[in-house]
Formats: sequence, structure tokens, C-alpha cells
Amino acid sequence: MTRQTIHGTLRPAPWRPATWRHDLLAVAVGISVGATQADAQRPVPTNVATRVALVGATVISATGAAPMHDATVLIEGRRIVSVTPRNATVLPKGTRVIDATGKFITPGLIDANVHLVLMITPEFYVKYEERMADIAVQSAQVALKYGLTTVMDSWGPLDELLKARNRISRGEVVASRVLVAGNIVGLGGPFSPYFMGTYDLRGTDLRYGGWVHPMIQSRINAMWEAGAGPELLAMTPEEVGDTISAYLRKGPDFLKVAVSAHGIGPVEPLMFSTPALVALRRAASDAGKPFQTHTFSLESLREAVAVRPQLLQHPNVMSVPPTTARQRRMLDSLLAEIKRLGIYSAPLMIPLDAQQAVYESWNVEDRRRDPHLAAVIQSRQPGMTRESFAARREALQTWIRSGVKFVIGTDQGPEAAELGPVVWGRMGRRHFEVMEGLQEAGMPAMDIVIAATRHGAEAYGLADSLGTVQAGKVADLLVLDADPSVDVRNLRRIHQVFKAGTLVDRTLLPTVRVLQWDPEAKWPR
Ligand SMILES: [Zn+2]
Repeated sequence: MTRQTIHGTLRPAPWRPATWRHDLLAVAVGISVGATQADAQRPVPTNVATRVALVGATVISATGAAPMHDATVLIEGRRIVSVTPRNATVLPKGTRVIDATGKFITPGLIDANVHLVLMITPEFYVKYEERMADIAVQSAQVALKYGLTTVMDSWGPLDELLKARNRISRGEVVASRVLVAGNIVGLGGPFSPYFMGTYDLRGTDLRYGGWVHPMIQSRINAMWEAGAGPELLAMTPEEVGDTISAYLRKGPDFLKVAVSAHGIGPVEPLMFSTPALVALRRAASDAGKPFQTHTFSLESLREAVAVRPQLLQHPNVMSVPPTTARQRRMLDSLLAEIKRLGIYSAPLMIPLDAQQAVYESWNVEDRRRDPHLAAVIQSRQPGMTRESFAARREALQTWIRSGVKFVIGTDQGPEAAELGPVVWGRMGRRHFEVMEGLQEAGMPAMDIVIAATRHGAEAYGLADSLGTVQAGKVADLLVLDADPSVDVRNLRRIHQVFKAGTLVDRTLLPTVRVLQWDPEAKWPR
């Protein structure tokens, strides 16, 4: 059987150094994001060519066009053949008709930033070292169950994630389509200072307590770093380029580069010199793979924008937010530049009313039976005041108002409940919360739907195949009970999920069950 590959067509303008850059950067790097390694999952094998028509729904195509009422979406095999008004459609003989009257059809959702294997406690890595590919598949299955037909893993153990990705793309398991970055280039693995450094490994810290043999730590770190770890920081730019080209040949679908550090200080320092960053950028471009950045400071964001990535991960999150007039002017000019260049942004740490209400009303006395969860909430409460909430929402609104193109990227991942409460977004739920938080901040519902579908595909060079409900596209679709273009909370009201033309039996998912977590439990549980 032939493998069907999704070809990307994202071809931004040729790279030129930004105006504030040094002459050193006047190196033309042609950006051409071509085919990624991500294969579409084949439909369940059948002997006849499957032809299915969804009839009577309102189609929200995510192209920017107005919703089409009483439409017929005709699917043949993996692809959408046509999207037409019902009364103008003659269905070919033998078409299986699914009545979708009163329903709403959107493209399948895309989460541009997940971690399929991640639960940062030392015990997790020790206990599940042999099960990471299975956990990745389970996470991708939970993702699909909750409407994510494609997810991009931006930090994880490369080989294990590739195994999971390939099992899914070969059709061995039904799960969300997975794209993989592997390491965040330059950072260390889970036991490195970048992720554990500020936590007490002697056993007293809430999240990272415990002691793990150094041999296990380095083994786990190596799974993440996979040849693209901190050793790059000591290399010449030329060596950096060669090393990352070799890394890309291992098969990741995209490259995520740490322009700033992560977790090592009150202000995250820069990681790479400008020439090294340019070498990384060019290597990704030569390999035809999307390039994205990890930044936690204003200056690292400036460095990132200057090499023109396709996507900025969490560009709105800064260890020290811009406060002075000059810093604010810099942010404004960066926002204008991001918009002008058409770079996608995946905002993170989206404030959510429901979560804030929990922080404000949390009463330890009421939660005596759940002391560990109580401890997590209490440890966060000081940083979650009403004032800080308002400040975070206002900062987010600056990004919304700027008109830069958003994708939805959540950082969500699985939970090993026996090792303590999840420390960030829970897989299967967080994408809804992020979209709702954007809506609460004033972003129009239709714009959010587009961010969660078309923009996600575009940011990864997959716009040819994914992201909209249009003839020729892969039939990744959600059938909803209510209209998400008036209220994104309606994206939770999933009636059916189609992936590559196949109706997903959501009741069976996940079929791989290494961990147990409940995406439908009310936050924080
Ligand atoms: Zn990141």
C-alpha cells in the first residue's frame, strides 16, 4: 500500500535580514517549507471506495467565507470532493448519506503545541521509561476524541514520538495526526537545569521532589536531546548548521529552536549567537521543514522575528514583561513586523475566568481530602491575584488588537494521576480552555475557529491538505451540535469527528490505556 503524504505549500517571501540586524545577516536564505514527514492516516480499509455525504449542516469552512447553511459535504475516500448547497447537489449513486440537519461542520482542530509524553515529575520518567511511545499514542487518541485531528509535539523524546507518529500514520491505531519536533534545540532534557534547575531535587519541592540516580537522569535526558541539546551552544555556527542538518535527517517534522533559555533564572538569557541562529534557520529551510522559536524575553523575541520563523511559540510569555516606554515601543514594532511578515503566533498562558474563580475562592478547609491538589493551588495563589489576572489579560489583548495571526498552541499533555495533580493543561481539555480564554479577552469566535484550524495548517506548511472545509482537502471534520462561530464554547459540543474521511468511534478512545485521566473533569481536577 502506498503511503500518502501531506505536502505543504507554505512559501513565505525569501528571507532578508530585518532592518535592525547587523550586516552579518545579509545572507539570503530561501525559505521553502515543503513536504513534512507527517503522513495522513489512511481510512479504515474497505473493499469499496467509500463515498459519504454529510447533508443539511451549516458549514463553517474557516476560509473566511460566511457560513453555508443547509450544505452538502461530499467525501470520497480521504478527501472532500465538494461543499455545495444541498438543493444544488446531485449525489452520485451509492453515496452513504448522513443526516446532519441542524448541525455545524468545521475543520478538525489543530493544536500547534502539545507534549504527548510529559508529566514533569522524576517518578514519571522512571516508571514509564519503556512506555513513552504508547503514552504518546494514548495522548493522540485522547486528542482526537476531543476534536483535535492534528497535533504538533514541540518537545519530547524524538525516537519514541516518531514511533508513535508512524504507528498512527500507518493506520495501526486511530489517533490524532502527529507532527514531531523532538528537542527544543539547545535545551537539555527533563532532568537538565532548563527544566529542573529551579526545583529542589532533594525531595522537598512539591512538583519535582524526589531523587533519581544520575545514570537514569542522563539516559532520559539523552532521549529528549537526541543530538540537538546544549552541546550546540559550544559549537561554531558552521558546526551548529551541520549538526542540526544531521538531526533533521532523523525525521522530525519541524524544528523548534530555543532562542532564549527555559527555567534557569528570573530572566531567561539568550541561547544562540546570531550567526548560529542563522545557521539553524538555514538548515531547516534547506531541509524544507518549518522553523519555529521558543522565546521568553523581549530581546529573544526580537532575535527570533529577525530570522523569520513560520511560527513563534508563546511569544507573549516573557519572564520580565515589557514595562518601560522603550520596551513597549519595541514590542509594538515587533508586533507590526510579525504582522507584516505573516508569522504565526501561538500565545500561551491564556487567562481564563473559570480558573481565576477557583484561585480566588479556594478554601483549604473544603479540600481536606485532596491535600496534594490543595498544595498545588495554594502554591500558585500568590501569583494569581485579581490584579495579575487583569494584567495578563491586558497583555494578551495587546496581541489580539495587533492583528497578528494566531494559532492555538496549548502545551497540553497527559496526566499520570498517581504521581500527583497535573501541573498544566490536561490533554483533551486545554484547547477548549485556551479558545475560551481568547474569547473572554475579546477575540471574535470566528477568528478563534480560524486560528484553531486554517492557521494551524498554514503555520506548518500543510495548508494544501488541512485546515479548511473545501474541495480537495483531507476530510478532517467536526460535526457539532451548536454554532462555534457565535460562541467557541460550542466546540465542546462534538457530535462526530471525521479524520481523513473516516468517522471516528469516539466511545472507543483511547484504546491504548497506559495512564488514566479525565479530560471532562471540572478544573482543577
Ligand atoms: Zn517553548
